[in-house]
Amino acid sequence: MQAITYQEPFKVLVKTVPLPQIIEPTDAIVKISSSGLCGSDLHRMRSSSFFFHFEIKDSDDQHNSLNSVYRNDERGPDKDTIMGHEFVGTIHQIGSDVNKNIPHDQDRFKIGDRVLSPFTTCCGEASQVYGVIYDGHGINGAQAEYIRVPLASTTLVKVPSEISDNLGLLLADILSTGYFCAENGLNGLIGQREIKCDANSYDENDVLVVVGCGPVGLMTVVSAVYLGAKKVYAIDSINERLMLARDFGAIPLHLDLDDPVQTVKEATGGRGADVVMEVVGNSSALELAYKLLRPAGMLSSVGVHNSKSFPFSPTNGYDKNITYKSGRCPVRRILERTTQLVLTKRFDLEKIITHEMKLCDGEGAYNIFDKKLDGCVKVATLS
Ligand code: NAD
Ligand code: ZN
Repeated sequence: MQAITYQEPFKVLVKTVPLPQIIEPTDAIVKISSSGLCGSDLHRMRSSSFFFHFEIKDSDDQHNSLNSVYRNDERGPDKDTIMGHEFVGTIHQIGSDVNKNIPHDQDRFKIGDRVLSPFTTCCGEASQVYGVIYDGHGINGAQAEYIRVPLASTTLVKVPSEISDNLGLLLADILSTGYFCAENGLNGLIGQREIKCDANSYDENDVLVVVGCGPVGLMTVVSAVYLGAKKVYAIDSINERLMLARDFGAIPLHLDLDDPVQTVKEATGGRGADVVMEVVGNSSALELAYKLLRPAGMLSSVGVHNSKSFPFSPTNGYDKNITYKSGRCPVRRILERTTQLVLTKRFDLEKIITHEMKLCDGEGAYNIFDKKLDGCVKVATLS
């Protein structure tokens, strides 16, 4: 089959590779109809990813062997690792134990079922991200014709027929991550009510800011608006992305032309934003997020950072009484809520997928996505 593979820093290559096989009886093989390119793939392609260095704690225990530890190695995955972690497809082959503990016939998986997966495998105890293999440990990714899905019964989710492949891709990662970021921000805000001495519910005068309008930032805007936020600023330096943020309900602010810190200060009587959501993954964005925040505000961050330290000091954090939440999105845990969001059809989410390209154009797809050419926001590759 064909697959987009990691070769060396800044180089991916479409190659013919062997078809994946069932290894464990709990595996399934999925035939991929559509896979996405994500900002996290760029971290890996640039080899700046600190993600998931695997530590085998007990090689006889499948769960323990999946435990990942975070190390800042700043290197790419193993050569020939298949990239990608967002996909929708159909079940092609099922391991003998996949349906073993599923009591009801309608919940069992069958060949041909249309499925998606969160960007990690899931079993409630451990998880691993697709497309991340270091020193031989990890699993291949989804930018291919087929993928092996470990722990398939708890990882795969059947896709309702009214949800298109492209919407399924968004659910698998970036919509869920944006929702996680917004929910963390708004929940944290409610937790700060006592400090702000306001009513104990969302106040429509509260000001939110999303730093970064890439695909994940745009989904954060959508989620914040969906969750009830009335005033959401969105910052980026790419006009097309700012216009999409505006279409989804945000007030666009150009990073270099609009002086976001000053604008937000003026809009809040000098106080600063109540919630800032950082959706970029670099130090200058996190520093900006800190500057935008009011005292006792909530900083919710989903950007994947490879810096070893914060751009603001513990003293800064203390002095401002900030609450900081971050982390990898537990997609599976919030998938029901994001599926509801999709089913409302309130937002034209698919318009962020600006490019649909063939898998065999994989190198071109990375180039367009990485350099943000031709108005590119998000790329789906079709097998
Ligand atoms: P992207 O690279 O497409 O978008 C980032 C956007 O931020 C770009 O539009 C860029 O112009 C803008 N930007 C850069 N510097 C900025 C600054 N200082 N201020 C404001 N805007 C700035 O990436 P994406 O696909 O949208 O992903 C965003 C981040 O989310 C990445 O770090 C990605 O790895 C991460 N991510 C995290 C999770 C998670 O579970 N936490 C899941 C998916 C993606
Ligand atoms: Zn991703």
